Amino acid sequence: MRVAVVGGGVIGLSCALRLARAGHDVTVVTADEPEHTTSAVAGGLIFPPRGTEPFAVCAKWTRDTVAELARSGASGVRFLPGRLMLPSRSADPGWASTLGGTTWEGDTLTFTAALVDTPVYLRWLAGEVVAAGVRTEYRRVQNLTDLAADVIVNAAGLGGGVLAGDDTVSPVGGQVVHFADPGLTEWIVDDRSPATTYAIPHGGHVVCGGTKEPGRRTLEPDPDVVQDIIERVRRLVPALAGARVLDVKVGLRPHRPEVRLERVGAVVHCYGHGGAGITLSWGCADEVARLITDPFVA
Ligand SMILES: Cc1cc2nc3c(=O)[nH]c(=O)nc-3n(C[C@H](O)[C@H](O)[C@H](O)COP(=O)(O)OP(=O)(O)OC[C@H]3O[C@@H](n4cnc5c(N)ncnc54)[C@H](O)[C@@H]3O)c2cc1C
Repeated sequence: MRVAVVGGGVIGLSCALRLARAGHDVTVVTADEPEHTTSAVAGGLIFPPRGTEPFAVCAKWTRDTVAELARSGASGVRFLPGRLMLPSRSADPGWASTLGGTTWEGDTLTFTAALVDTPVYLRWLAGEVVAAGVRTEYRRVQNLTDLAADVIVNAAGLGGGVLAGDDTVSPVGGQVVHFADPGLTEWIVDDRSPATTYAIPHGGHVVCGGTKEPGRRTLEPDPDVVQDIIERVRRLVPALAGARVLDVKVGLRPHRPEVRLERVGAVVHCYGHGGAGITLSWGCADEVARLITDPFVA
């Protein structure tokens, strides 16, 4: 089947790879190269943050992604132990216990997570996509029905809402600061206050955050916010006190009350992954491939 995948972020590329490996003739149509997508800004911790819905399927998609990352030998992926600090045990995000290997220490959940160095991983993924025979066209799609294909996958992130005429999709800005990695051996997320603070080490650098800024449209970093992140992170991880700041990045999460993954006629919509697109990517790609290859099997 001829499939056009709109979007070259983590969702579009994962879908394209699954579909090409299932024998479909796939073209990715994307406005931006992978390194210029929101996906390349993500810290890359594999867990769905609070509010990622629908809960039950997102827990399954998370498990599927963890399994695929463990199996694939992808570049930019490693598994490290770490700590998720919660305001109370009752704030247990629920999905965590479905992952297995989690333990409580007071109100802190500890477990080994997959960490994805997103620019490195996206480069690997884009290479796999090319090797699987997928073609890529760089252009902005105005209308999904203009694409010459049997099936179209709408994996355009924030743009997915625009293409689908879905006004429930909106940007939630996030700023991150990259520090030189002093050799951290665990990740940490402090979710005890609305301004979640985290440090995700990738070997050469540590991605630290964060912010959630509903309605943000600009990718220009805000110096006061950057300073606030630096101070919060250094309080949480004293080993970063002397570490050099390497970079600052801003991304716009494609927020939606729920991820949209459904087939409507010749279009499979897969967008609105908010702060969890890397986490949900392989589970969603499997489901997209199933909806195309085997649409009548529940
Ligand atoms: C600061 C920050 C930290 C994050 N941390 C994490 C994390 O630790 N773990 C996690 O799982 N997630 C994290 N996320 C969330 C994650 O980045 C997103 O959920 C994910 O990138 C969404 O992927 P996507 O492929 O749907 O969208 P994108 O990466 O935005 O890709 C969309 C693609 O669609 C293309 N496009 C859009 N409109 C059109 C059009 N009309 N025509 C053609 N192409 C179009 C774009 O060019 C782009 O290629 C974070 C996000 C931010 C901002």
